[in-house]
Amino acid sequence: MKVVKTIQETREIVAAWRKEGLTVGLVPTMGYLHEGPQSWIANSVSENDPTVVSVFVNPIQFGPNEDLEAYPRDLERDMQLVEATGGDLIFNPEPSEMYPSHFTSFIDTTETTELLCGAVRPIHFRGVCTVVGKLFNIVRPDRAYFGQKDAQQLATIRRFVRDLDFGIEIVPCPIIREDDGLAKSSRNTYLNAEERQAALILSKSLALGKKAIEEGEKDAKKVIEIIKSNLSTEPLARIDYVEVVDFENIQRVDTIAGETLVAIAVYIGKTRLIDNFIIG
Ligand code: AMP
Repeated sequence: MKVVKTIQETREIVAAWRKEGLTVGLVPTMGYLHEGPQSWIANSVSENDPTVVSVFVNPIQFGPNEDLEAYPRDLERDMQLVEATGGDLIFNPEPSEMYPSHFTSFIDTTETTELLCGAVRPIHFRGVCTVVGKLFNIVRPDRAYFGQKDAQQLATIRRFVRDLDFGIEIVPCPIIREDDGLAKSSRNTYLNAEERQAALILSKSLALGKKAIEEGEKDAKKVIEIIKSNLSTEPLARIDYVEVVDFENIQRVDTIAGETLVAIAVYIGKTRLIDNFIIG
Protein backbone atom coordinates (compact mmCIF):
# COMPACT_ATOMS: atom_id res chain seq x y z
CA MET A 1 0.00 0.00 0.00
CA LYS A 2 1.43 3.32 -1.11
CA VAL A 3 0.67 6.93 -0.13
CA VAL A 4 0.99 9.37 -3.01
CA LYS A 5 0.87 13.16 -2.69
CA THR A 6 0.92 14.30 -6.32
CA ILE A 7 -1.53 14.15 -9.19
CA GLN A 8 1.25 13.27 -11.61
CA GLU A 9 2.44 10.18 -9.70
CA THR A 10 -1.13 8.98 -9.17
CA ARG A 11 -1.80 9.26 -12.89
CA GLU A 12 1.37 7.29 -13.70
CA ILE A 13 0.49 4.46 -11.30
CA VAL A 14 -3.08 4.24 -12.59
CA ALA A 15 -1.88 4.35 -16.22
CA ALA A 16 0.37 1.34 -15.52
CA TRP A 17 -2.59 -0.56 -14.02
CA ARG A 18 -4.71 0.30 -17.04
CA LYS A 19 -2.00 -1.02 -19.37
CA GLU A 20 -2.36 -4.37 -17.62
CA GLY A 21 -6.13 -4.21 -18.22
CA LEU A 22 -7.00 -3.86 -14.52
CA THR A 23 -10.30 -2.49 -13.21
CA VAL A 24 -9.88 0.41 -10.78
CA GLY A 25 -12.13 1.29 -7.81
CA LEU A 26 -12.10 4.68 -6.04
CA VAL A 27 -13.31 5.46 -2.52
CA PRO A 28 -13.30 9.25 -1.96
CA THR A 29 -13.04 10.24 1.73
CA MET A 30 -11.98 13.10 3.97
CA GLY A 31 -9.98 10.68 6.12
CA TYR A 32 -10.28 9.86 9.82
CA LEU A 33 -11.81 6.67 8.51
CA HIS A 34 -14.27 4.51 10.41
CA GLU A 35 -16.30 1.39 9.63
CA GLY A 36 -18.42 3.34 7.08
CA PRO A 37 -15.75 4.09 4.50
CA GLN A 38 -13.85 0.95 5.59
CA SER A 39 -16.68 -1.27 4.44
CA TRP A 40 -16.80 0.55 1.07
CA ILE A 41 -13.08 -0.01 0.70
CA ALA A 42 -13.75 -3.71 1.35
CA ASN A 43 -16.53 -3.66 -1.28
CA SER A 44 -14.25 -1.95 -3.77
CA VAL A 45 -11.42 -4.42 -3.08
CA SER A 46 -13.73 -7.34 -3.82
CA GLU A 47 -15.30 -5.77 -6.93
CA ASN A 48 -12.20 -4.29 -8.62
CA ASP A 49 -8.51 -5.04 -9.10
CA PRO A 50 -6.64 -2.13 -7.42
CA THR A 51 -8.52 0.23 -5.10
CA VAL A 52 -7.56 3.88 -4.62
CA VAL A 53 -8.68 5.67 -1.44
CA SER A 54 -8.46 9.44 -1.54
CA VAL A 55 -7.91 11.14 1.82
CA PHE A 56 -8.40 14.87 1.42
CA VAL A 57 -10.15 17.40 3.65
CA ASN A 58 -11.48 19.52 0.82
CA PRO A 59 -11.31 23.20 1.83
CA ILE A 60 -13.68 24.46 -0.88
CA GLN A 61 -16.67 22.53 0.48
CA PHE A 62 -16.48 24.23 3.91
CA GLY A 63 -18.25 27.55 4.49
CA PRO A 64 -16.50 30.41 6.34
CA ASN A 65 -17.92 29.46 9.77
CA GLU A 66 -17.66 25.69 9.38
CA ASP A 67 -15.22 23.20 10.89
CA LEU A 68 -12.41 23.05 8.29
CA GLU A 69 -9.63 23.63 10.87
CA ALA A 70 -11.19 21.40 13.53
CA TYR A 71 -12.00 18.51 11.17
CA PRO A 72 -10.18 15.45 12.61
CA ARG A 73 -7.12 14.19 10.72
CA ASP A 74 -4.94 11.12 11.35
CA LEU A 75 -3.15 9.84 8.24
CA GLU A 76 -1.17 7.17 10.14
CA ARG A 77 -4.38 5.58 11.38
CA ASP A 78 -6.00 5.88 7.93
CA MET A 79 -2.97 4.15 6.38
CA GLN A 80 -3.26 1.21 8.75
CA LEU A 81 -6.98 0.88 8.10
CA VAL A 82 -6.63 1.04 4.29
CA GLU A 83 -3.73 -1.43 4.36
CA ALA A 84 -5.66 -3.86 6.60
CA THR A 85 -8.70 -3.63 4.32
CA GLY A 86 -6.72 -4.42 1.18
CA GLY A 87 -6.61 -0.95 -0.47
CA ASP A 88 -3.67 -0.39 -2.84
CA LEU A 89 -3.06 3.35 -2.88
CA ILE A 90 -3.94 6.40 -0.79
CA PHE A 91 -4.04 9.66 -2.73
CA ASN A 92 -3.39 12.34 -0.10
CA PRO A 93 -2.68 15.67 -1.82
CA GLU A 94 -2.01 19.01 -0.16
CA PRO A 95 -4.69 21.67 -0.83
CA SER A 96 -2.15 23.55 -3.01
CA GLU A 97 -1.77 20.45 -5.23
CA MET A 98 -5.52 20.33 -5.84
CA TYR A 99 -6.09 24.09 -5.92
CA PRO A 100 -3.10 25.96 -7.35
CA SER A 101 -3.35 29.75 -7.47
CA HIS A 102 -5.85 31.06 -10.04
CA PHE A 103 -8.00 27.95 -9.64
CA THR A 104 -11.30 29.28 -10.99
CA SER A 105 -13.29 26.40 -12.55
CA PHE A 106 -16.05 24.60 -10.69
CA ILE A 107 -18.73 21.96 -11.22
CA ASP A 108 -22.02 23.61 -10.37
CA THR A 109 -25.27 21.70 -9.98
CA THR A 110 -28.92 22.70 -9.72
CA GLU A 111 -32.12 20.80 -8.79
CA THR A 112 -30.62 18.10 -6.53
CA THR A 113 -28.73 20.73 -4.50
CA GLU A 114 -31.54 23.28 -3.96
CA LEU A 115 -32.89 21.83 -0.71
CA LEU A 116 -31.56 20.07 2.42
CA CYS A 117 -27.83 20.74 2.95
CA GLY A 118 -27.73 22.72 -0.30
CA ALA A 119 -30.14 25.28 1.17
CA VAL A 120 -28.21 25.81 4.39
CA ARG A 121 -24.62 25.29 3.13
CA PRO A 122 -24.56 27.46 -0.03
CA ILE A 123 -21.10 26.58 -1.43
CA HIS A 124 -20.93 23.02 -0.11
CA PHE A 125 -22.01 21.01 -3.15
CA ARG A 126 -20.08 23.12 -5.61
CA GLY A 127 -17.00 22.18 -3.57
CA VAL A 128 -17.96 18.51 -3.29
CA CYS A 129 -18.75 18.12 -7.00
CA THR A 130 -15.60 19.96 -8.05
CA VAL A 131 -13.30 17.82 -5.90
CA VAL A 132 -15.07 14.60 -6.90
CA GLY A 133 -14.86 15.60 -10.57
CA LYS A 134 -11.13 16.25 -10.16
CA LEU A 135 -10.64 12.89 -8.40
CA PHE A 136 -12.53 11.18 -11.23
CA ASN A 137 -10.27 12.84 -13.80
CA ILE A 138 -7.10 12.04 -11.85
CA VAL A 139 -7.91 8.37 -11.08
CA ARG A 140 -10.36 7.59 -13.93
CA PRO A 141 -11.93 4.77 -11.89
CA ASP A 142 -14.33 2.21 -13.31
CA ARG A 143 -16.38 2.37 -10.10
CA ALA A 144 -16.61 4.90 -7.27
CA TYR A 145 -18.17 4.27 -3.86
CA PHE A 146 -20.30 6.76 -1.90
CA GLY A 147 -22.21 6.36 1.36
CA GLN A 148 -25.96 6.80 1.68
CA LYS A 149 -25.39 8.75 4.88
CA ASP A 150 -24.70 11.68 2.57
CA ALA A 151 -27.76 10.90 0.47
CA GLN A 152 -28.02 14.28 -1.23
CA GLN A 153 -24.33 14.05 -2.14
CA LEU A 154 -24.94 10.60 -3.62
CA ALA A 155 -27.94 11.79 -5.69
CA THR A 156 -25.98 14.84 -6.87
CA ILE A 157 -22.89 12.87 -7.88
CA ARG A 158 -25.02 10.37 -9.77
CA ARG A 159 -26.60 13.28 -11.60
CA PHE A 160 -23.42 15.06 -12.64
CA VAL A 161 -21.80 11.79 -13.69
CA ARG A 162 -24.78 11.25 -15.97
CA ASP A 163 -25.12 14.89 -17.11
CA LEU A 164 -21.41 15.35 -17.84
CA ASP A 165 -20.81 11.83 -19.24
CA PHE A 166 -18.09 10.74 -16.83
CA GLY A 167 -18.86 7.08 -17.62
CA ILE A 168 -18.15 5.91 -14.05
CA GLU A 169 -20.35 3.49 -12.12
CA ILE A 170 -21.47 5.06 -8.84
CA VAL A 171 -21.93 2.38 -6.16
CA PRO A 172 -24.16 3.38 -3.20
CA CYS A 173 -23.23 2.03 0.22
CA PRO A 174 -25.70 1.68 3.14
CA ILE A 175 -25.47 3.72 6.37
CA ILE A 176 -23.25 2.16 9.01
CA ARG A 177 -24.39 2.76 12.60
CA GLU A 178 -23.06 2.37 16.13
CA ASP A 179 -24.74 -0.40 18.13
CA ASP A 180 -27.12 2.13 19.69
CA GLY A 181 -28.21 3.52 16.30
CA LEU A 182 -26.10 6.68 15.89
CA ALA A 183 -24.86 6.94 12.30
CA LYS A 184 -21.06 6.72 12.29
CA SER A 185 -19.34 9.95 11.40
CA SER A 186 -15.91 11.51 11.83
CA ARG A 187 -17.81 14.46 13.36
CA ASN A 188 -19.10 12.27 16.25
CA THR A 189 -15.68 12.86 17.84
CA TYR A 190 -16.81 16.46 18.57
CA LEU A 191 -19.54 15.22 20.96
CA ASN A 192 -18.97 15.13 24.74
CA ALA A 193 -20.56 12.29 26.76
CA GLU A 194 -23.82 14.13 27.35
CA GLU A 195 -24.12 15.19 23.71
CA ARG A 196 -23.26 11.68 22.51
CA GLN A 197 -26.27 10.40 24.47
CA ALA A 198 -28.47 13.24 23.19
CA ALA A 199 -27.43 12.47 19.58
CA LEU A 200 -29.47 9.26 19.71
CA ILE A 201 -32.52 11.44 19.17
CA LEU A 202 -31.71 11.57 15.42
CA SER A 203 -31.96 7.84 14.70
CA LYS A 204 -34.83 7.40 17.19
CA SER A 205 -36.90 10.17 15.58
CA LEU A 206 -36.21 8.81 12.09
CA ALA A 207 -37.27 5.35 13.25
CA LEU A 208 -40.64 6.78 14.35
CA GLY A 209 -41.10 8.43 10.95
CA LYS A 210 -40.18 5.21 9.18
CA LYS A 211 -42.58 3.19 11.32
CA ALA A 212 -45.43 5.59 10.47
CA ILE A 213 -44.73 5.21 6.74
CA GLU A 214 -44.52 1.43 7.05
CA GLU A 215 -47.87 1.47 8.83
CA GLY A 216 -49.43 3.32 5.90
CA GLU A 217 -48.84 7.06 6.45
CA LYS A 218 -48.40 8.72 3.03
CA ASP A 219 -48.69 12.37 4.00
CA ALA A 220 -45.18 13.86 4.00
CA LYS A 221 -46.22 16.74 6.30
CA LYS A 222 -47.44 14.30 8.94
CA VAL A 223 -44.19 12.32 8.81
CA ILE A 224 -42.20 15.56 9.15
CA GLU A 225 -44.36 16.52 12.14
CA ILE A 226 -43.81 13.16 13.86
CA ILE A 227 -40.03 13.50 13.43
CA LYS A 228 -39.91 17.17 14.47
CA SER A 229 -42.00 16.68 17.58
CA ASN A 230 -39.80 13.79 18.72
CA LEU A 231 -36.60 15.75 18.01
CA SER A 232 -37.92 18.63 20.10
CA THR A 233 -38.12 16.41 23.19
CA GLU A 234 -34.31 16.54 23.38
CA PRO A 235 -33.16 19.81 25.02
CA LEU A 236 -29.67 19.68 23.44
CA ALA A 237 -31.06 19.26 19.91
CA ARG A 238 -31.73 22.16 17.52
CA ILE A 239 -33.36 21.25 14.22
CA ASP A 240 -31.66 22.50 11.05
CA TYR A 241 -34.06 20.73 8.67
CA VAL A 242 -36.44 17.79 8.38
CA GLU A 243 -37.43 17.08 4.77
CA VAL A 244 -39.21 14.44 2.70
CA VAL A 245 -38.05 14.45 -0.95
CA ASP A 246 -37.89 12.11 -3.92
CA PHE A 247 -34.45 10.49 -3.94
CA GLU A 248 -33.88 11.00 -7.67
CA ASN A 249 -34.39 14.77 -7.91
CA ILE A 250 -34.27 15.82 -4.23
CA GLN A 251 -37.51 17.79 -4.60
CA ARG A 252 -40.23 17.97 -1.91
CA VAL A 253 -43.14 15.55 -2.16
CA ASP A 254 -46.60 15.93 -0.57
CA THR A 255 -47.45 12.26 -0.87
CA ILE A 256 -44.99 9.47 -0.19
CA ALA A 257 -44.74 7.17 -3.23
CA GLY A 258 -41.72 5.78 -5.10
CA GLU A 259 -38.16 6.05 -3.83
CA THR A 260 -38.37 8.66 -1.08
CA LEU A 261 -35.60 10.19 1.06
CA VAL A 262 -36.43 11.33 4.58
CA ALA A 263 -33.46 13.44 5.68
CA ILE A 264 -32.65 15.45 8.78
CA ALA A 265 -29.89 17.75 9.99
CA VAL A 266 -29.76 18.55 13.70
CA TYR A 267 -27.33 20.49 15.86
CA ILE A 268 -26.39 18.71 19.06
CA GLY A 269 -24.72 21.50 20.97
CA LYS A 270 -22.37 23.01 18.35
CA THR A 271 -22.07 19.83 16.29
CA ARG A 272 -24.23 19.49 13.20
CA LEU A 273 -25.22 15.87 12.49
CA ILE A 274 -27.14 14.44 9.53
CA ASP A 275 -29.04 11.19 9.17
CA ASN A 276 -31.71 9.77 6.85
CA PHE A 277 -33.55 6.77 5.52
CA ILE A 278 -34.67 5.88 2.02
CA ILE A 279 -37.93 4.05 1.52
CA GLY A 280 -39.82 2.65 -1.47
P1 AMP B 1 -16.28 11.36 4.66
O1 AMP B 1 -14.86 11.03 4.91
O2 AMP B 1 -17.07 11.75 5.89
O3 AMP B 1 -16.48 12.33 3.52
O4 AMP B 1 -16.96 10.00 4.19
C1 AMP B 1 -16.41 9.22 3.16
C2 AMP B 1 -17.49 8.42 2.49
O5 AMP B 1 -18.11 7.55 3.43
C3 AMP B 1 -18.64 9.26 1.91
O6 AMP B 1 -19.09 8.64 0.74
C4 AMP B 1 -19.68 9.21 2.99
O7 AMP B 1 -20.98 9.33 2.45
C5 AMP B 1 -19.49 7.82 3.52
N1 AMP B 1 -19.91 7.68 4.92
C6 AMP B 1 -19.42 8.32 6.00
N2 AMP B 1 -20.03 7.88 7.12
C7 AMP B 1 -20.93 6.94 6.74
C8 AMP B 1 -21.86 6.10 7.41
N3 AMP B 1 -22.01 6.10 8.74
N4 AMP B 1 -22.61 5.28 6.69
C9 AMP B 1 -22.50 5.29 5.35
N5 AMP B 1 -21.65 6.02 4.65
C10 AMP B 1 -20.86 6.84 5.34
